[in-house]
Formats: sequence, C-alpha cells, structure tokens
Amino acid sequence: MFIDSHCHLDFPELAQREDEALATMAANRVGHALCVAVKLEEFPRVLALAERHPNLFASVGVHPDGDDVEEPDLARLLALADHPKVVAIGETGLDYYWQKDAPEWQRERFRTHIRAARSCGKPLIIHTRAAAADTLRLMREEDATDAGGVMHCFTETREVAEAALDLGFYISFSGIVTFRNATDLKAVARYVPLDRLLIETDSPYLAPVPHRGKTNEPGWVVHVAEEIARLRNEPLERIEAATTENFFRLFRHAKES
Ligand SMILES: [Zn+2]
Ligand SMILES: [Zn+2]
Repeated sequence: MFIDSHCHLDFPELAQREDEALATMAANRVGHALCVAVKLEEFPRVLALAERHPNLFASVGVHPDGDDVEEPDLARLLALADHPKVVAIGETGLDYYWQKDAPEWQRERFRTHIRAARSCGKPLIIHTRAAAADTLRLMREEDATDAGGVMHCFTETREVAEAALDLGFYISFSGIVTFRNATDLKAVARYVPLDRLLIETDSPYLAPVPHRGKTNEPGWVVHVAEEIARLRNEPLERIEAATTENFFRLFRHAKES
C-alpha cells in the first residue's frame, strides 16, 4: 500500500470528482491520503472529507500565500486540531516567491503554527519556497524539532535537506521529482535516508510523468514512488513499505482503518 502524504482533494478540480479520485486510489493501491488545509475558511471541507472516508486524514493550517484570509491565532488552531481525524498542523511555512517583499506577517503566522504543533503534539507540514534560510531559522528559533514534521513538496538543495534532517524532519517528494529536467532534485531523492522519506502528489497540481499537465490526483503518487525506486536502484516494494511506515511513524495520530 502507498500513501499520498499531501493532497488537496477539497479543491474544486478534485472535489467535483471525489468518487473517481477515490477509485483511482484504490486501483493503484494508494490506501490513504492526507488532505491538507490551506485556509481556515476552507477547513470544514477538508475535515468533512476525512470524516466521510475512513482512509482520508486532515490537517489544519493557513498557507503562507496571502494575508486576505482569516489569520489563525494559537487558540483557534488548537481548537480545530483537537479532532481525531486531524493528524497534522499545516500547511504552513514561508513563500517569498509569491510575496517578494518577505512580509513579517508570514513569519508571524509560521511561528504561530509551530507553537500550535508543539502544544498539541501533532507534526508540522512545512511549505518553503524561495525562503529556505528564513524557514530553517524560524524552525530553530521556535524549536520546531519538538513537534517534528515534514518539508513538503521538497524542491530545495541537498544542504537544505540536510539541515531539515538534522532538525528531525522528514522530506517529501512530489511529482516534480519525475520531471526530466529536475536533475538536482533527483540527486536529493537519492540522498535522503530511507527512513525519512515521504511521497505526495500535492494534487490537483504537479501531475507526475506520465500524466504531466493533467489534473493530478492522489492515486498517481505511485509514479513518484516508482521514480524514487528507480533513482535509488531499489525495488518499488521497499520504497512502498518504507514511505508507508514513515507516514504512520510521523503522523502518529493517523489510525489505520
Ligand atoms: Zn505547499
Ligand atoms: Zn499543498
């Protein structure tokens, strides 16, 4: 069984064909998927998916993308995280690609998520883009290691991976690792220790080869696993078993059903 550690099944592209997406998961032996929240306004839809399907889990958090959304405070995050199907805090982090002025509200929001994760004992799902140094700095300043978590949709350098691993974090690869021009990322996927590796789709975005350009879905996480197996010259079964074991070790509130 494979697990998609990060998807957005509630986004309109996928929500309108929920049954089909779940069928593709079953057909590809993708047993579970973690539905990741990006806004508090949309969190009820994410949680509803996890409540409707025993094999789906949810996270709660606010993406670093915009400040035109409900700003989470610690108490609010903790209240929403207090649900058996909520297994993680995020996605959170820093994204200076879309916010080129690197605004202070992003860092404050990230700090709030780290504090929430430490307080409730659920791990962090961290998004970082064009902001690796600050992301690592805040993780250290806020003792993110106490909560643990994953660097999701990893696209940074080996040095950044090494620093995140040193902080006790897992590294998750998306369909980007299957792209032919992702040479540096492929090298990182060879380097990450097997017991710290996760796979994800970040669907509906980033469809892996051979579906590149289409609306991505959780069932296609298999192609990410296949590419990692190929890169590491290991049997697919080994990647499958390790990433599934890693998922349940990290997201320890996710109960298999
Ligand atoms: Zn993200
Ligand atoms: Zn995402």
